Amino acid sequence: MRGREVLPDTSSRTKRGISEILRPYGLRMTLGNRKKHPKGSVKIGIDLGATRIKMGLVDKRGRVSHRRQINTPVNAKKKNVIDSLVENIDGIISEAGIARKNVAGIGMGVPGPTDFKKGIVRYFPNIKGWENTPLKSILEKRLGLKVNIDNDVNAMTLGEYVFGAGRGAGNVVCLTLGTGVGGGLILNGGIYRGSTMAAGEIGHIPINESGPRCNCRGMACIESYIGNRYILNRIKKIFGRAITLEELTRLAKKGNKAAKRIWEDVGTKLGIALTGVVNLLNPDIVVVGGGVSNAGELILGPARLELKKRAMKDQAEHVKLVRARLGEDAGIIGASLLVN
Ligand SMILES: [Zn+2]
Repeated sequence: MRGREVLPDTSSRTKRGISEILRPYGLRMTLGNRKKHPKGSVKIGIDLGATRIKMGLVDKRGRVSHRRQINTPVNAKKKNVIDSLVENIDGIISEAGIARKNVAGIGMGVPGPTDFKKGIVRYFPNIKGWENTPLKSILEKRLGLKVNIDNDVNAMTLGEYVFGAGRGAGNVVCLTLGTGVGGGLILNGGIYRGSTMAAGEIGHIPINESGPRCNCRGMACIESYIGNRYILNRIKKIFGRAITLEELTRLAKKGNKAAKRIWEDVGTKLGIALTGVVNLLNPDIVVVGGGVSNAGELILGPARLELKKRAMKDQAEHVKLVRARLGEDAGIIGASLLVN
């Protein structure tokens, strides 16, 4: 029947929908395929951070168990980090009492630019010594399991898309607000990586002609205005002392005007940067995660207002701006989706 030859509905969470998500990765869908993966088959998701490594078993519904958290040693040698990864992965498998053959594979989000296809870490901005590390093949050899690696924001974006706030949407922009401002893109139902797998750097969209120099070699990047460090500096200037972001949020919620104004300014600047993103990509939803996003509506409210004022009508009316939903487990769940 001709009428059936339509594009697959990537917005639904059907088996077909998920396989569309995974296709850009060159991966096949096996979720729910009981013949290939017997009941109880699981994956291991790992979130390798510059300060912490989090990992756990993830089932096909995105539920996490057997969590482990390890501090990434300061100035850790690459070899030690890899040894620790192997040891803890083996630990999780034996602790869970599952047969190795029932582990579908290991997905890992890493803190820096990564060649997903080749499984090579390009470099980590905050950990020395990882330049051009073929991490996928190193781990596969040592573990005898399938391993896929990608940068942590792409992993989180996948997690929010499949199991979190982006569920049911076809075009999703994901942001992480922290020390840096990261971004990930799901376009037409798949991760958009760009020509050299470097797309999604929303944090380095300039919002002024001139302004602070950025590590990326740019100037006046949005990250320099709404990143963690900027907010903390601003707090010091205004309050005359150091206050944590949690405290700032508490103060703002209690009605402290100066605290409210700081968050409002962050939200407004975020809204300005997002206006460009929303006009360009016309997404269904923008999902905001990361530590700074705990300020919630204090930031999202002003950002929405700015979008409403500035973005083009069609795009502005359609787009939703929401907080990420997977919380602490986002990195683990997202990373597990890199495997199948
Ligand atoms: Zn920059």
